[in-house]
Amino acid sequence: MRDFFRFLSRHGLVLAIALVVLVAILVLMGRSPAPEQPQPGAEDRPLVVVGTFSLIGDWLQAVGGEHIDLRVLTPVGAEVHEWELQPRNFIDLESADLVFYNGMMLEQWMRQVAVAVGEDVPLIGLAERSDYPVQHIITGDYSGEPDPHMWMDPRAVVEYVGVIAQTLARHDPANAAGYEARAQAYVDQLETLHREVADKFAAIPESSRVLITSEAAFPYFAEAYGFFHDGIWGNNAEVEGSPRQIMRITGVIEQRRPAAVFWESTISDRYVTSLARDTGVEVAGPLYVDSLGPAGSGAETYLKMMRHNARLIAEALEEVS
Ligand SMILES: [Zn+2]
Repeated sequence: MRDFFRFLSRHGLVLAIALVVLVAILVLMGRSPAPEQPQPGAEDRPLVVVGTFSLIGDWLQAVGGEHIDLRVLTPVGAEVHEWELQPRNFIDLESADLVFYNGMMLEQWMRQVAVAVGEDVPLIGLAERSDYPVQHIITGDYSGEPDPHMWMDPRAVVEYVGVIAQTLARHDPANAAGYEARAQAYVDQLETLHREVADKFAAIPESSRVLITSEAAFPYFAEAYGFFHDGIWGNNAEVEGSPRQIMRITGVIEQRRPAAVFWESTISDRYVTSLARDTGVEVAGPLYVDSLGPAGSGAETYLKMMRHNARLIAEALEEVS
């Protein structure tokens, strides 16, 4: 023991320094090493913004430009109502700062998205947040419920774009002015689009403005441009092409005698083709509703898709009117 105290008195200072250094090392190791986490929206880390389907991706890109890192869950041409999340979707959702979806039960799979992103990531339902008059599903199992296809009226997309710009600006104030400027430029294009589509149909008499499709996804479009509208089924989330649906729509076609019936890009054309054959009307398509078109389709953006639809409908209905 005496030797120990002698040792201490001789080497005490060295030991004390060694102890201090040791404690310092342990404290530093204990602190979780914190590599610099740039804030979302900072110059070197753009906001990771997820959209549920191609149309929302188009609007997010139009407003967000180079300031956002955009991810879209469903590919072009996919069926959006009943999508099943893929492994790459989970990777995108894990890094998401914001998720934009349409809502009104368009994406039947939003609960899975909510679970995948956790509680802190805002989910922004564009149709639900837009202050735009709601149309209702006109036939089938979901008859009377809010119809989700609000974007088929460009004036509703003006509202969507407003929600997108405000949300991006709130989460990334450094680029707020950029978002607002881009949103305003896009709104100008939407207003031009709306006038153009209305002009396109001006020559078609009211009685010939009959739009019959597979999914009755055009109530907003019909309201905006003065069409009678019906579909084989009311919403892609229900059974498609049942004998009862076919019988009902055959009666409508025989009563209204449209020049053509239309099919949509995300649905097989076999139902409308057999309907047309049985009722003696033309078939026209594809119309784009739930997805943009692939490269070369002429419907690669929302603006192009709406012009494509208007041209196709006008040409099909003008032929015999
Ligand atoms: Zn749909």
